[in-house]
Amino acid sequence: SSMTSDQIRQSFLDFFESKQHSIVPSASLMPDSPNLLFTNAGMNQFVPYFLGEREATTPRIADTQKCIRAGGKHNDLEDVGLDTYHHTFFEMLGNWSIGDYFKQEAIEWAWELITEVWKFPKERLYASVYKPGEGDPAEFDQEAYDFWKAVFEKAGLDPEVHIVFGNKADNFWMMGDTGPCGPCSELHVDLTPAGDTKGSLVNADSPYCIEIWNLVFIQFNATPEGDFVPLKAQHVDTGMGFERVAGIMATSKNFTDFSTPPSNYNSDLFDTLFQEFEKLSGHKYQRTLPEDLDNISELEMKDVIFRVLADHIRCLSCSIADGILPGNAGRNYVLRRILRRAVMYGRKLGLENGFFAKLVPVVVSQLGHVFPELKKQADVIQRTIKSEEDAFGRTLDRGIQLFEKIAADEGNISGLNAFTLYDTYGFPLDLTELMAKQKGITVDTEGFEVEMEKQRAKGRAAHKSTDILVADSDAPAEATTFLGFDTLADEAELIDIVK
Ligand code: ATP
Ligand code: MG
Ligand code: MG
Ligand code: MG
Repeated sequence: SSMTSDQIRQSFLDFFESKQHSIVPSASLMPDSPNLLFTNAGMNQFVPYFLGEREATTPRIADTQKCIRAGGKHNDLEDVGLDTYHHTFFEMLGNWSIGDYFKQEAIEWAWELITEVWKFPKERLYASVYKPGEGDPAEFDQEAYDFWKAVFEKAGLDPEVHIVFGNKADNFWMMGDTGPCGPCSELHVDLTPAGDTKGSLVNADSPYCIEIWNLVFIQFNATPEGDFVPLKAQHVDTGMGFERVAGIMATSKNFTDFSTPPSNYNSDLFDTLFQEFEKLSGHKYQRTLPEDLDNISELEMKDVIFRVLADHIRCLSCSIADGILPGNAGRNYVLRRILRRAVMYGRKLGLENGFFAKLVPVVVSQLGHVFPELKKQADVIQRTIKSEEDAFGRTLDRGIQLFEKIAADEGNISGLNAFTLYDTYGFPLDLTELMAKQKGITVDTEGFEVEMEKQRAKGRAAHKSTDILVADSDAPAEATTFLGFDTLADEAELIDIVK
């Protein structure tokens, strides 16, 4: 039988502990940096080390980091459920060298863990190496190439087949336009039934060839003048998708069976949630994948909804546990949108108002031993989601009626109508777009933005905000409000104001 997800996570940490790494707790999903909506990578909390602003107490670190990619530069929200390997909330396993070991150890240890401890079939593995394209910085990463070459040759595999090249877009990591940066190497797994793609599906958005691990070699400082100056201290920063590894191992029954499409949702991490959905909806999960995204069958849609709901409740629960509540701006609004998406999708399965909050204990029992803050805040999480869900439920039916009427009377949704749905009925724009798409009609998003801007201007005139700005948002910078746990009453009022 395959390893459980708990065993996989623990074996990662044990492996790096055996290589003298200190195991540290996950940082909060609330980032230190005002430029981030959510913590979105393991390295976020270690940036001060790379910048030389703070000294690391130990040069080797490993952990599992809670991440959310639902806004800003990394926004995977639209893929969630439609594919099986992008979540909003996920765990990123990582190991770091702060000015200590470099490419050789990082590559050899990654290979050792993947092939010897976890027993991934070597012939299905592909490593990508940085090769600059037109106008890209720095040089071909010969060092990484040579270390991978040695690894593949030792395994009796042809390096020319198993090493693929990527330019800046996929294989060069930069934090911003300036600062510490460097080439990266990624490990990809061929999960086609025959396993004979020879690397042709790497970075091709195929569910059958999945990127599992990114090894970043921080060796340059990008200057404002556009130079890439070698750093004195070189660092390693890696990130691996925990749910992807668990999903691959579970789907393939520890690499013995590649007949079914791989999916993160096949790992035991989602078992108890899916059992709950099956109980609530009467639908049994069929492990289907939409064949044509523009034409999703009813059965496929039910499976999509299972995946969306599982993803979204993990995201909401973990955010609230870290003090980020649904609200009307910035990261808080991202959460509100995610919650409302979940409620809408739940309705399509016939789930009753209040179902979403009831899922919280399932998440807490699944992840509470890894992230104790979930256990500690369980009541707050459930109350917050319940009040948010209730408030949305109160206007939802009227909103759906209005949407149906507009669709029947006018066909497409005008900017003003989309804004009314947003402003009066609490429909985030992406929700209206989702509903429109399912009807084969369009939404005038530009017109919507015009109406939004008018309202923002009014708001700005009405009161001066002292809130912090979120610059990494996909919307124009907006004020975000952190409401502490003792302000649930205020939060409920806020919901009513927003609507
Ligand atoms: P992809 O190309 O698949 O979107 P990425 O290159 O954006 O992944 P990285 O920024 O390199 O991802 O993050 C490190 C690792 O985290 C990835 O190799 C992947 O295994 C995992 N990962 C990234 N995004 C997600 C996500 N949305 N859900 C689950 N795992 C993810
Ligand atoms: Mg990505
Ligand atoms: Mg990638
Ligand atoms: Mg990557």
